[in-house]
Amino acid sequence: MVKIIQKGNKVLRQKAKEVAVKDIGGKKMADIIKKMTAALWASPSGVAIAAPQIGEPLRMFLVEASVFDKRGFTDEEKRKKRPPVVFINPQIARISKNKLIMQEGCLSVDGVFGAVPRSNKVTLRALDEKGKKKTVNASEFVAQIFQHECDHLDGVLFVDRAIKLAEPKNEK
Ligand code: ZN
Repeated sequence: MVKIIQKGNKVLRQKAKEVAVKDIGGKKMADIIKKMTAALWASPSGVAIAAPQIGEPLRMFLVEASVFDKRGFTDEEKRKKRPPVVFINPQIARISKNKLIMQEGCLSVDGVFGAVPRSNKVTLRALDEKGKKKTVNASEFVAQIFQHECDHLDGVLFVDRAIKLAEPKNEK
């Protein structure tokens, strides 16, 4: 079982390093992707995970495949039949000035949710797991995920950006 690193650990606050292009497609990267996938799938509410969240300070994240479906999030069983989508060395190429206030949580900030202003449109450039370039134009939920995950790679957590936080009273 891969443990998801929680807020307070300094790996979540570091600026993650670019993945070396020569490493893409190799065994080390395949192992990291496997670990990230296991950690994501072990979290019922998770839709994405960044490498620092499993203790790898590298610029990469994974997003559930079903997030990109028009029909939206699929059930638990279907979810595990398709590997998550891999984004390596992502860069936000364009971001809208127009923002939405969105509800947000994080696998590394267990039990806490908050309202976070996020641009409603972003264009993301990244490499896939084979090193192929891709550009994705995203809006709303997917745009929110991209911003949240790119923040992780710069050591930023959603609680830093939240305008309002809600946490269960029994936890502190
Ligand atoms: Zn997160």
